Amino acid sequence: MIIKFAGAHNTESRNTRMSGVIIDGVLALDAGGLTSTLTLEEQDSLKAVLLTHQHYDHVRDIPALGMNLYLGGGSIDIYCGKEPQRVLTAYLLNDDLYPNFFHRPPDKPTLRMNVIEPLREFSIGDYRILPVPVGHSVPATGYLVTDGDGKSLFYAGDTGPGLADCWRQIAPQLLIIEVTATDKFAEFGRKNRHMTPLLLKEELLSFRDMKGYLPGVAAVHMSPRLQPELDAQLAAVARELNVLVTVAHEGLELGL
Ligand SMILES: [Zn+2]
Ligand SMILES: [Zn+2]
Repeated sequence: MIIKFAGAHNTESRNTRMSGVIIDGVLALDAGGLTSTLTLEEQDSLKAVLLTHQHYDHVRDIPALGMNLYLGGGSIDIYCGKEPQRVLTAYLLNDDLYPNFFHRPPDKPTLRMNVIEPLREFSIGDYRILPVPVGHSVPATGYLVTDGDGKSLFYAGDTGPGLADCWRQIAPQLLIIEVTATDKFAEFGRKNRHMTPLLLKEELLSFRDMKGYLPGVAAVHMSPRLQPELDAQLAAVARELNVLVTVAHEGLELGL
C-alpha cells in the first residue's frame, strides 16, 4: 500500500495544502488538496473519494474534481455520511455555486453519491473499508482501510480526544491523525474537538492499554504557523512512547 499525502495542513498557501491522502493512486481520503496534487490523468485513475466530514478544508476539491471528470467523460464514487451529503448538495454542488455533478450528465452522472453507515463495512475493489465515528465539532467518520494483502491504516480525519470507542473497532498498522495545534492550545482542542501533541499522547496511551501495541503514527492537519513547535512537541511524544511519529508534508509517500 502506497500512501501519498496530498495535503498535510489545515490551511492553504504556496507550500501547504489542505487535508487529504491518496492510497495506491485509486482511493482518496478527503479532498482538501486533491486536484492541485494530481494530474488530469491521475484524477481519471481515481476510483473513489471518501469524505470524513463536511468542513471546507476536507471537501473543497469535489467540485473541481467533478468538473475535470465531467469534461473528460469520466465518473467517480463519493462516499460520506448523511451530513456531508446534505451540505455538498445544498451548498457546493447546488447548480448555483457550481453545477450539480450528482445529476449531470443525466444519463451517467459524473459523481455517484454513496451514503455510508457507521461501522458498516463495505468494499471498493480489493479494499475493505470500515467507517468509524470519531469526535469532532460536527458528525465525523474515520476510515479503516485494509488492502487485499491485509495491510491497514486508519485515517481519522478531524477529531478531538475521547477515542476509546473508536479504538475498540480498529487495529491498524498506521494511524493517520490530525494534530492541529501545539499544546498551548490544548483547552481549545478539547473544546473545539481537535488534537494537540499532548492530547494525542493521551489517546495513544489509551490505545496501547487496550490493544497492547502502538501503530506507526502520521500527523496531518497541522497549522502551518505552528509547524516548528509542533515538530518539537511531536518528537517528544515519539520519544516518550517509543513510537514512530512521521510529521507528514505535501507530497510525502509512505509504504506499508
Ligand atoms: Zn473539521
Ligand atoms: Zn479540518
